[in-house]
Amino acid sequence: MSLAVSSPLGLNSPALGLECRGCGARFPIAAQHACFECFGPLEVFYDREALATVTREQIEAGPKNIWRYAGLLPAGQDEAQRVTLNPGFTPLVKADALAAEIGLRAPLWVKDDSANPTHSFKDRVVSVALTAAKALGFTRYACASTGNLANSVAAHAARAGAPSIVFIPYDLEPGKVVMTAVYGGDLVAIEGSYDDVNRLCSELVETDDFEDTAFVNVNVRPYYAEGSKTLGYEVAEQLGWRIPAQVVIPMASGELLTKIDKAFEELVAGGLAVAPEGGWRVFGAQSEGCNPIATALHRGSDEIVPVKPTGIAKSLNIGDPAAGIYALESVRRTGGWMDYANDDEIRDGIGLLARTTGVFAETAGGVTTAVAAKLIASGKLDPQLETVIYNTGDGLKTLDAVAGQAGPTYRVKPSLRAAREAGLVS
Ligand SMILES: *Cc1c(COP(=O)(O)O)cnc(C)c1O
Ligand SMILES: [Zn+2]
Repeated sequence: MSLAVSSPLGLNSPALGLECRGCGARFPIAAQHACFECFGPLEVFYDREALATVTREQIEAGPKNIWRYAGLLPAGQDEAQRVTLNPGFTPLVKADALAAEIGLRAPLWVKDDSANPTHSFKDRVVSVALTAAKALGFTRYACASTGNLANSVAAHAARAGAPSIVFIPYDLEPGKVVMTAVYGGDLVAIEGSYDDVNRLCSELVETDDFEDTAFVNVNVRPYYAEGSKTLGYEVAEQLGWRIPAQVVIPMASGELLTKIDKAFEELVAGGLAVAPEGGWRVFGAQSEGCNPIATALHRGSDEIVPVKPTGIAKSLNIGDPAAGIYALESVRRTGGWMDYANDDEIRDGIGLLARTTGVFAETAGGVTTAVAAKLIASGKLDPQLETVIYNTGDGLKTLDAVAGQAGPTYRVKPSLRAAREAGLVS
């Protein structure tokens, strides 16, 4: 019997254990996120032979959601044991008009993850984290959130019939607060920033009262992070098992970016997808109000200096990003770049994406669109190479950001005469 079969994460999990991203020390599968040796972050490592048995045909015969990639994920191989809203397989939208407007001459695609059940990419990470958490014996679900994660954890708990308690900064957008509260779990608004919320959750998780509680991005974070890989797998599969030459990804903790890169590596290593000539390049997007990772890259530094976030891209407002140095590593290794957009550029980015593709993004999608345009203007993105930009959330949750600039183009009385006077008919 191989180790994989006896995993505490369930039958047929290919996950073998946790490995420190800092010093490489290895630990058994458990609810642990920091290395006992050096306090570095832990990452799931797999039985390479088990991963190598996964075929395109198996994946293509699977359900139209993230679980088609169960053979490449740490948990959820047994459908009956999943804690999930079955997210994923969201549209990959061909964006010719956007390409023309920003000056890209190769195919451009928007991966639209607003189409997930709670309207952000967070459903992917939460489904994997909570499925692992359940297998590890947790009975209550929690998180520290910039908004979308709270929506998703509360909804997953509701579907599973489990209690939840989610923690957010008190000043989030009303759409994000309502969309969490409606599911009926506990919602704790903290009078502080996301980084304060996260610090508090790291303390709570150590207390006896939270012994039964999985914080998706604290004690079960290694499993959470793996869920982001599905955004890499899907894009490759939707392109006919090809990896795009360039991807532009929004960054909060920086985890999503590193995991899309990791997913591409796994697909190539497993013979599942073909890398583009010259390899793929990973690009990161932040807002000017919270740009610690991009700033480190621009300074040529390995040190991420934490910031106090400001600005409208609240879902990306992590001032002390846990995976920032790994995002730097991905971008440098692949020959990509990072940039950031200010609030006006973010609003314009939301408008540009909506008007050219029919996709209404939240502020994070405005950041990514605006940064993609900047990267082409600055020559960092090659206009001749196929490019995918990731829209990770839904504009309906951040209406206030564009409410001032999006409204009726005409207001007329209900008569033909009034319509004529307004110039609608001649
Ligand atoms: C959380 C989030 C991100 C970034 O996630 P990280 O993995 O922390 O970098 C991007 N977009 C949206 C909409 C998010 O909610
Ligand atoms: Zn270590």
